[in-house]
Amino acid sequence: MLVAILKEAREDEARVALTPDGVKVLTGQDVKVAVESNAGLESGASDADYTAAGARIAERDELLATADVIPVVNVLPAAEQKKMKRGSVMIGFLRPLDDPSALIGAIEAGVTLFSMELVPRITRAQSMDALSSMATVAGYKAVIVAADHLPKLFPLLMTAAGTIPPAKVLVLGAGVAGLQAIATARRLGAVVEAYDVRAAAGEQVKSLGAKFIEVDLGGLQTEDKGGYAKELSPEALELGRQAIARAAKQADVVITTAQVPGRRAPLMISAATVEEMKPGAIIFDLAAPAGGNCEVTRPGQTTVYHGVTIFAPVNIVAEMPVHASMLYSRNISNFLQLIVKKGELVIDHKDEIIAGSCVAHGGEIVNERVSAALKARA
Ligand code: NAD
Repeated sequence: MLVAILKEAREDEARVALTPDGVKVLTGQDVKVAVESNAGLESGASDADYTAAGARIAERDELLATADVIPVVNVLPAAEQKKMKRGSVMIGFLRPLDDPSALIGAIEAGVTLFSMELVPRITRAQSMDALSSMATVAGYKAVIVAADHLPKLFPLLMTAAGTIPPAKVLVLGAGVAGLQAIATARRLGAVVEAYDVRAAAGEQVKSLGAKFIEVDLGGLQTEDKGGYAKELSPEALELGRQAIARAAKQADVVITTAQVPGRRAPLMISAATVEEMKPGAIIFDLAAPAGGNCEVTRPGQTTVYHGVTIFAPVNIVAEMPVHASMLYSRNISNFLQLIVKKGELVIDHKDEIIAGSCVAHGGEIVNERVSAALKARA
């Protein structure tokens, strides 16, 4: 059985799907691993590191045609999907609900597809939870970039020349990224407030030393059975926006992270609210890949609106490739343990994690939400 690691095709991607540590786990199980030259260079892993871990270096086209498993960060380009072997496996952030048509080449080629986004969030799958890994990196990095660009200090400082008040940070969405942003901003000395539509997030926010903004949504059910936020009615969204507007006017930095799986990100900050924010303030919109939480966000661009700078990167984690790759590789490696038995590819489609994350098998889409997403776009 051959596992192949390719250099990511996307220009803004510096991560690699499997690091030399992940290779060692596989080679220790009699799995052959081959790597395209320089695949890990930007994540701090040289070809020599891979060969020391037991992999060989090979040409991309050979790997596409012969590999049994190709772990990826981003889905392979359509033309390359067609070159993959029937019955082989591609696993990674395949964006099956956002862009299912980008998978058609692999589906038609009979490739079995596993989406890291669809790994169920059950206890047994925690070590494979790549969304949480990446959200942790993103939440940290957003605060660091905002602190770097803010024309103010973060901590309270009492000096002989006077007292500097602490920066005020507002975090919208207190999931994995939001909680990491809160923790990072607190460590830098900022005063932090946060809002989330899930009441359960309140305790976690407070345990990190931040204030939770309470909004009375009249007992509305805001959480699905998977623990994710539901899409809100326009009225409930508006109540949140009003509370946020009051806090945003006082804030030096607003970090937004609110997302609803498979939907456009909720709009939480209106243009009018941005107009009332302090000049020099910063909005860091981590929901930009899903359209953004702020009305004036331009995904992929940094813009200035009424003196407020809005950062909206679409692949912020790629700016921290070493640790993002380390975490992702561990998640991938743990997933591979489910489908590699005694050096052979063995897929048990009854396993809850495999069934939940499998998008396509034997030329057919096997996930109802993905089929529906594809039909909706046809
Ligand atoms: P996410 O990235 O989908 O969303 C980020 C946050 O935005 C969430 O907390 C969500 O409630 C919030 N949000 C969505 N719409 C909003 C709105 N209109 N207004 C305000 N906030 C809004 O979520 P995530 O960070 O991936 O995690 C979501 C949940 O899953 C959390 O409860 C988290 O603790 C839980 N989780 C569980 C596991 C596990 O059990 N293995 C792993 C990771 C996360």
